[in-house]
Amino acid sequence: MSFSDLPFDVGPVYEGERIRGNQMYVELGGPKSEFKFELCRVKPAKDIKDGNVELIGPDITDMEVGSRYPIGIYVEVAGAQLEEDLEAVFERRIHEFCNFINGVMHLNQRYTTWMRISKQLVEKGFNTLKMMGTVLIRLFKAELNIIEKAQVTLYTDPKEIKKIHKMAMDVYNARDERARGLHDEDVDMFYGCVLCQSFAPTHACAITPDRTSLCGSINWFDARAAAKVDPKGPIYEVPPGECLDLVAGHYTGVDAMIKKRSLGEIEQIYLYSGMEYPHTSCGCFEAIDFFLPEIGGHGIIDRSHDGTAINGLPFSAMANQTGGGKQMPGFNGISIQYIASPKYQQYDGGIETIVWMGKNLKDRVAEFLPADLVDKIATEEDVNDINGLQAWLEEKKHPIIETDAYKMAVGGEEEEEEEEEYGAAGAMVPMGTQTFTVPGAGGMGGFKVILKNCKIHAEAIIIKKMDGKRKK
Ligand code: SF4
Repeated sequence: MSFSDLPFDVGPVYEGERIRGNQMYVELGGPKSEFKFELCRVKPAKDIKDGNVELIGPDITDMEVGSRYPIGIYVEVAGAQLEEDLEAVFERRIHEFCNFINGVMHLNQRYTTWMRISKQLVEKGFNTLKMMGTVLIRLFKAELNIIEKAQVTLYTDPKEIKKIHKMAMDVYNARDERARGLHDEDVDMFYGCVLCQSFAPTHACAITPDRTSLCGSINWFDARAAAKVDPKGPIYEVPPGECLDLVAGHYTGVDAMIKKRSLGEIEQIYLYSGMEYPHTSCGCFEAIDFFLPEIGGHGIIDRSHDGTAINGLPFSAMANQTGGGKQMPGFNGISIQYIASPKYQQYDGGIETIVWMGKNLKDRVAEFLPADLVDKIATEEDVNDINGLQAWLEEKKHPIIETDAYKMAVGGEEEEEEEEEYGAAGAMVPMGTQTFTVPGAGGMGGFKVILKNCKIHAEAIIIKKMDGKRKK
């Protein structure tokens, strides 16, 4: 495989490249674009024009610097050994392969694709998006040699993309629906994935029927098919081993996998908890389950949420806290599909601890939530701060108000009013692995102290203004 006929470099070394707003020639998809998707489908060989790239819509030379367009990446492949279950696994490689191009930044997956093309790349001669399609075809055929033929169609036309976007959404929904019928106790093999280790070196996904991968792209069926055709590849079998705790989803096989794949950094995982030994989070998660210490319950924000969550933080700020391969109690990267699982964070109290969700996300998963809970989960349209949330939960008789966690969380209020210097009472700050440095004499040398999996529980947090004149 060679890219010498193209005016730019291609290779894994460019993965992780960031393109900031002032370096960007054009943005494709992303949170401000309504239509974006990437899809891979297996087709009969006769339907594929091998190597062909089509572009439907404006090309690079038609786009103004700093502009934004929708993007659809539709890859069709054929091969004697290919089966439908492999589609999602191939599709996930679109992210990786686009990032191989020096000057292309690709984030996310499925219907959340977000790309930027750098000015520098266009200056080098990247004057048509078709070049990206050519790179994809060559990489697909070289890296996945069971693919014999491939063609790519790219969509940038705001009208034309709508129809194919609907088809892509139907395919994603059909995949998810099939996966919802299977549960962890029905299978004797789990799977793992390390595709995101280039961004998050200590992260490995444990993929089980109840816990679809964080990116939402690879369910248990997809992972099984991938591990079968390429057992030494990035998606592999994980024998569950002994189940030490059914409610937590604590399996010796999953622990062994994460310990090995994180090079000893992470020792154990509770599959169904965001608070104790939570699953690591890379950066591709579809949503974040976050703890609300003032309520003793949880909120969920997804990537498409515009604005802040009930805790005052936007998705991007929480994503920084959550991702990078860390194990961060209180902030857990999840797939949207996992919310529909009956095992959803069951170790922490399950779906009934969810007190707030972004409106779009809630509408999307409402049919999978317990019918009597749906109207009791607040969104940004119902409340906009924690005090309002507490009143809402009590008015709606959300089941959280009967829990000890809620009573303890809201119980410190009187004390808080009496003593002005108390900023927050009873706050548990999830800290995960914390590192700090104790400097040596003169600021040289010293020690690094690593506290693994620590939780800091504060009776109160006191914030005092420092008097600059006072001797420290
Ligand atoms: S989020 Fe998980 S399953 Fe998805 S590509 Fe990354 S490591 Fe693989």
